[in-house]
Amino acid sequence: MKKLALHWQILIGMALGIAWGMAASYLGFVDFTLAWIQPFGVIFINLLKLIAVPLVLVSLITGVSSLSDISRLSRIGSKTISIYLGTTVLAVTLGLVLVNIFDPGKAFSPEKREEFKEQFASTTVQKSSDAAAVEQQGPLQPLVDIVPSNIFGSLTDNGAMLQVIFFALLFGIALIMIPPDKAAPVNDFFEGVNLVILKIVDIIMKTAPYGVFALLAGLVVDFAGDDPGSAVELLLVLGYYCLVVIAGLATMIFIVYPLLVVFIGKTKYKSFFEGIFPAQMLAFSTSSSAATLPVTMECAEKNLGINKEITSFVLPLGATINMDGTSLYQAVAAIFIAQAYGIELDIMAQLGIVMTATLASIGAAAVPGAGTVMLVIVLQQAGIPVEGIALILAPDRILDMCRTTVNVTGDATVAMLVARTEGQLHPPKEITTT
Ligand code: ASP
Repeated sequence: MKKLALHWQILIGMALGIAWGMAASYLGFVDFTLAWIQPFGVIFINLLKLIAVPLVLVSLITGVSSLSDISRLSRIGSKTISIYLGTTVLAVTLGLVLVNIFDPGKAFSPEKREEFKEQFASTTVQKSSDAAAVEQQGPLQPLVDIVPSNIFGSLTDNGAMLQVIFFALLFGIALIMIPPDKAAPVNDFFEGVNLVILKIVDIIMKTAPYGVFALLAGLVVDFAGDDPGSAVELLLVLGYYCLVVIAGLATMIFIVYPLLVVFIGKTKYKSFFEGIFPAQMLAFSTSSSAATLPVTMECAEKNLGINKEITSFVLPLGATINMDGTSLYQAVAAIFIAQAYGIELDIMAQLGIVMTATLASIGAAAVPGAGTVMLVIVLQQAGIPVEGIALILAPDRILDMCRTTVNVTGDATVAMLVARTEGQLHPPKEITTT
């Protein structure tokens, strides 16, 4: 019998988890579910958290050091990276605007939010002294905090992901600057470790259908308790949250990229869309920009007329560092969780999210679920309880499919812009402007 694709397995796991949770609440299996099923969901989350630090460290080092051959392409390199950063910051900002307008996390009933708040307060009592310490810090303290005095300390400290990112960038840059013969074994080593880590993510994702089942079953009974009716509230609120994420992603695909493609790329959006469609479909069904990359490159070269010199540099880099969909999703998810827990984030905290979501999406590997792993960083940095991820994991696979489609479309858009400004776009798809 043909094996069912992972995303279907996960969707089935989700549906069964919801069904189990509802049935358990009605039939009185709440304690059983909490004792014997929910822990597997916790294990799944732990697995995701476990891989986060090594994933950031190694994928950023290999990402930066792969720029080594850019010395001759430095102009194209800096142009590409600036446009990538620009579109990512735009995506995060769009996500923040939408989530602040629609307030999906506030759609929980006041009682539910009070419950979340109490849970939060009881798990973070010791934070109050940290909070007091933060208040006494000077304005440059966040900058000081990014630079670690002991990298091994940062690697074992869950809240220090920015320090790990800082070290990885420094390491990658230094690696480019040493003699190539000395750098080669180090590169090989990190590339090998990177493959191992991606394989671990792969293995973790294989357990996702069960993890998602257990999480959902646990989540639904936790939420519903003896009042199954309130599970419906959870599903409705989650549906609302998904709509906000999808509205943001759709804005990127149907408004932001078309504007760039038409006005800077000087190409008809219909031709662009038709050309990139096979890659979009693959991105949607694999949830992996990396798996989609060969097709993205082929579409860009054959259908969009972008020169190979550009696609072979811009697209692999983009698959690793440019994830507009992921960063938008992280911004919405972080604020949604904060709202559910009744945490008010001021403008500075939201600007912090722009920074961490941009960095976290750069650090996220181009594989299924990576954006969710990296969400941990955004939450930790903003002081939002990481446990809140359990709230949004249920519909995560669907959102992963949608955001990966945006990631891939964003990469192709930027490749087109770079090609256009470098005179590397072939005539067939061009719109004559004169
Ligand atoms: N699956 C996404 C990608 O490969 C990353 C993520 O957001 O999880 O582009």
